Amino acid sequence: MNPTAARPWCVGLSGGIASGKSTVARRFQNLGVAILDADVAAREVVAPDTPGLKAVVAEFGPQVLTPQGALDRSMLRALVFNKPAARQRLETIVHPLVQAWFRQHLTAIQACYAMLVIPLLVETWPAYRWLDRILVVDISLATQHSRLMQRDDITADLAEHMIAAQSSRQARLQRADDVLDNSGTEAALDTHVATLHTRYQELASGQA
Ligand code: ADP
Repeated sequence: MNPTAARPWCVGLSGGIASGKSTVARRFQNLGVAILDADVAAREVVAPDTPGLKAVVAEFGPQVLTPQGALDRSMLRALVFNKPAARQRLETIVHPLVQAWFRQHLTAIQACYAMLVIPLLVETWPAYRWLDRILVVDISLATQHSRLMQRDDITADLAEHMIAAQSSRQARLQRADDVLDNSGTEAALDTHVATLHTRYQELASGQA
């Protein structure tokens, strides 16, 4: 990403799985902030008939296609599972396309600032060092574990495994300019979000 290209002021929103990123992003969206989601980007860049999908097929073979010509995500997941080299080959294709997707979508934004939801911000660092600010949603491991089990209806073991597969809470906090503590109720988020929104509007308009 060319940091000098015309684009709005950008906050990166990250946090561990089930920390509350989507819940927080919805609140900023309700305040008029433009939200762009890396997971949406990662799906769109390998949609049927895209150069991204062609590149994935060229690398992993036609076995990663469904009979309808879409990406067979579970097959691809199985191919890269526990295979760091294969995962790296996939990421080498997808990450630049996601960056280009952000670049393209950011130029169309009219809002005062944009928020980019990037679950794997720390894992993909320094790809997003061009962001103006980083907000990390934080909860204790115990709360994360129970919210993840509840949301995805999964066992304690699987939840633990999914959490362990990500960067540590500490690594995420080290990257943060701002930390949003989501250990309280969802209603308690409103006050935190309102305070951060005021601050971000000031920073975006150059008043701070
Ligand atoms: P992420 O997008 O980071 O994976 P979600 O926003 O999906 O996380 O939140 C994970 C789960 O926790 C969801 O079921 C959500 O409704 C719930 N949740 C989020 N924030 C709170 C909160 N403050 N109190 C209780 N439950 C919450």
